[in-house]
Amino acid sequence: MMLNDERVYVPGHKGLLGLAIVRKLKEEGHSNITVRDHCELDLTRQLEVEKFFEKEHPQYVILCAARVGGIKANMSYPAEFIYENLAIQTNVIHCCHKHGVKKLLFFGSACSYPRQCPQPMKEGYLLSGYLELTNEFYAVAKIAGIKMCEAYNRQYGTDFIYAIPTNIYGANDNFELQSSHVIPALIRKFHEAMIKQIPVVIVWGSGNQRRDFIYVDDVADASVFLMHNYDQPEIINIGTGEDISIRELSFLIKEVVEYKGDIIFDTSKSDGVSKKLVDVSKLDGLDWKPKTPLEEGIKKTYEWYTKSWGRSHIDRRSRS
Ligand code: GDP
Repeated sequence: MMLNDERVYVPGHKGLLGLAIVRKLKEEGHSNITVRDHCELDLTRQLEVEKFFEKEHPQYVILCAARVGGIKANMSYPAEFIYENLAIQTNVIHCCHKHGVKKLLFFGSACSYPRQCPQPMKEGYLLSGYLELTNEFYAVAKIAGIKMCEAYNRQYGTDFIYAIPTNIYGANDNFELQSSHVIPALIRKFHEAMIKQIPVVIVWGSGNQRRDFIYVDDVADASVFLMHNYDQPEIINIGTGEDISIRELSFLIKEVVEYKGDIIFDTSKSDGVSKKLVDVSKLDGLDWKPKTPLEEGIKKTYEWYTKSWGRSHIDRRSRS
C-alpha cells in the first residue's frame, strides 16, 4: 500500500498523463510527491538520473516521461522515438532497482501489439506478430521497457508493474498539428476552420480506421488504482472497451465545435493500423471502470483548448 507520506516520484510530470497523475495523487492526499523539470534533470543522461535517485530516494515511481506523438511525428522522427524512450526508461528502471524502489509503474503502448492482432487485443498477444510500420520504433522501445521490468522482477524480485493504455487524450494535450494525436488535431482543425470560415476540414486517412480513446483523468485514476491494487508480473491493459471509427470521431468533434462546413477524408495519408481496441477484462475483473464518456471528454478537452492552449508551457517531450 502506497502511504500518503511515502515519497512518489513522477517523471514526466508536465506532460498530459504526468499532470493528471500528480493531480490524482494530490486529490488522494499524497503529500510527498517529487518532480523535476526537464531543465533540472535530463532523464536520457544516466549519471544525472543516478545522482537524483541517490539524493531523493523515491519509494514509488510512476514513469510518465516518454517521447510521444501522433502518426506523423512517429513516421518523421523514428530515431528520436527509439533513442529517447530507450534511454529514459533504461535509466529510470535500472535506478528503481538499484535504489530499492518499492513499486514502479511503467506505461507501454497499445501500438506495441501486432499490426494484425485479433481484436480486442488481450495482454497475451504482445509479441505474437509483426508490428505496425508507422510507429514501429516507438513500439519496440515500449516493448523493451516492459521486458526490462519483467527481467528485473524475475531476477531481483522487484515489484515493477506495466500497464498498456490505449489512445489517451484530454486537457493539456498537444495541439501542434505536426506532432499531435488525432483528437487534439481535429479539435484544432475544426475550431480554426469555424473561426476563419474555411469550408472544408481535411482528416487524414480513409475514416474507416478505428481507435479506443480514453480520457486522461481516467488513465490517471486507473494508474493510482493499480499502484494500490496490482502486483502481478503481467501486462494489464487500460482502455474503455469500446472503439470508434475516425469518421464517426470527426463528425462528433465537428458537432462539439459547432463547425458547419464539410469534411474530406484524405486517403493519400496513412491510416496506420486499421483497428486498435484493447481487451479490458483484466482491469474490469479488478472492478475498475473509466468514468468519462467520449463526448464529455471531447467537450472538456475543447474547453481547455479554447481557454488555455497557447498560454500553457507544457514539456512536449514528457507526455505519455
Ligand atoms: P495512432 O493511433 O498511433 O495512429 O495515432 P494518431 O492519434 O496520430 O492517429 C489516429 C488515426 O487518426 C490515424 O489513422 C490517423 O491517420 C488519423 N488522423 C486523421 N486526421 C488526423 C490528424 O489531423 N492528425 C493525426 N495525428 N491523426 C489523424
